[in-house]
Amino acid sequence: MSALRVDPIACRAHGLCAELLPEAIDLDEWGYPVLRGGELPAGLLADARRAATACPALALRITTGR
Ligand code: SF4
Repeated sequence: MSALRVDPIACRAHGLCAELLPEAIDLDEWGYPVLRGGELPAGLLADARRAATACPALALRITTGR
């Protein structure tokens, strides 16, 4: 199972992740990501990896495991 995680300390509210992965990430009123949570569908994994790589603060990660 793969899931998204945000490091709330590192996140700088750039909002880029929500632009790249709107299917799984919303932004709150301050621009911080709100993850929809749960398991990432296989069809979103490639886009999720791109979003994690693009995060300027390296705050977005994909976890795997149970
Ligand atoms: S791109 Fe990175 S720093 Fe910007 S809102 Fe998303 S997780 Fe936070």
